[in-house]
Amino acid sequence: MTLRRKFIAALVGMVIFMALIFAVISLFSIQSLLGHTVNYIEQSYTQQWNRILTYYYQEHGSWAGIEDYLKNILGDPHQKYSLFSRDSGPLLVFDNKDQVVAASRPNDIGKTLAQFTGQDNVPAQWHEIEVNGTTVGHFWLDRKLVTRESKLARNIAQSIIVSLLIGLVLTSLLALLLGVLLTRHFTVPLRSLTKGVQGVAKGDLSARLPVKGTDEIAVLSRSFNTMSEQLAHNEEVRRNMVADIAHELRTPLSVILGKLESIQEGVLPAAPPTLLPIQDETIRLIRLVRDLQQLSLAEAGKLPMNVQQIDLRTLLEKIFANFTIEFEERGIKPAIDGTVPVIQGDPDRLTQVMVNLIGNALLHTPPGGAIRVDMENYDVSESMSKPVAANDWVRVSVEDNGEGIPPEELMHIFDRFYRVNKARERETGSTGLGLAIAKEFVQAHGGTIEVESTVGAGSRFIVSLPVNFLTKS
Ligand code: ADP
Repeated sequence: MTLRRKFIAALVGMVIFMALIFAVISLFSIQSLLGHTVNYIEQSYTQQWNRILTYYYQEHGSWAGIEDYLKNILGDPHQKYSLFSRDSGPLLVFDNKDQVVAASRPNDIGKTLAQFTGQDNVPAQWHEIEVNGTTVGHFWLDRKLVTRESKLARNIAQSIIVSLLIGLVLTSLLALLLGVLLTRHFTVPLRSLTKGVQGVAKGDLSARLPVKGTDEIAVLSRSFNTMSEQLAHNEEVRRNMVADIAHELRTPLSVILGKLESIQEGVLPAAPPTLLPIQDETIRLIRLVRDLQQLSLAEAGKLPMNVQQIDLRTLLEKIFANFTIEFEERGIKPAIDGTVPVIQGDPDRLTQVMVNLIGNALLHTPPGGAIRVDMENYDVSESMSKPVAANDWVRVSVEDNGEGIPPEELMHIFDRFYRVNKARERETGSTGLGLAIAKEFVQAHGGTIEVESTVGAGSRFIVSLPVNFLTKS
């Protein structure tokens, strides 16, 4: 059963249920209202007759002539226009010997009470006529005149039921119509959402849904759009990465193959000068594969981490010592400044981050330039509204006064295989993976990495790390 049918059925069911409840409540209240009205009419009718008959007896001192008196008031019961035959039921007037002295049916006159027993429940329902404290007789009125079984009451109940039934049919039809319109309104976006999801399941990531309003379906559609955009982006990244890796592998492999073929054909001797480029390219391939492996491990959150207490100054001084020859060759003055507390981290991973940053700085700073590393301890609540323990972060910035990075390149600088000057930098052995790896490693420590750069003035890479990475995570 479709959602639409379910909704319509629920709506119609609800209307019928409510109408039935309403009908039952109305019937009960109308019945009780009728009951009260009947009692009231019966009482006033009885009082009226009591007064007439008492007055008659008081005036005449006996029941003699009562029959004619009643005929005068009510008309001849044999005649069509008699009040008795129309809106009044049978009336019986008994004297104090329980004998009928007047009646709406002439045949009843002269009968005794015993003759009515069991028939109309006369003794139980008759009323006493009292004059000066003495019971002078009784009168009996047929209760059917105004009881609930009377035509009037039945007519009222019937017309209420009929109007309730008509109301029920009309409201059910209205509910059906409303249900159709409402479900169409609600299910149209759901249908296009289903279509979109089915498209994604089949691999079509281009589907985008029209979004209107802020209701749950609009939120869902918006989320679907974001999800398929993200999926399409991921798919593109994956495709680009495969293409990039293939591209990166092709050059060293062709160099190796070319050299090997030349050696095999005897064009080149199998001597060290010929073998050296083969070795270089192989080293490059090994490095590329290692970098890719580390990157994919870090991206999947599966990077093995050997967390220890690290003194960043000692770690940086070691790195600087390893770069001494390069610094001297290029006449670059390195400097380390600031003090920070011992932090928790993996020394090998953080060394790799710093080596990548300092190596890049060396590569992109002209001879005679300067590279400095600044360290500071700071309170993260300076930049975040969340109150945390003071001074629980460290910031290490690697700054150079080299060529800088154009502003439009800055947003891509941490992407895999991204090189500002592809052709030139490939020659230098650059793979464009260094900053991507640095970013992943810093993130694996719960930190962040940012860049600020001005073309011609230099670049500054800022690494922020939590002091207690393990306790923080
Ligand atoms: P690689 O591992 O090949 O060095 P990176 O990912 O480390 O690549 O760097 C990406 C690109 O960012 C480099 O190709 C370079 O153009 C640019 N870059 C990185 N660091 C600097 C720097 N300090 N100054 C200028 N350009 C830089």
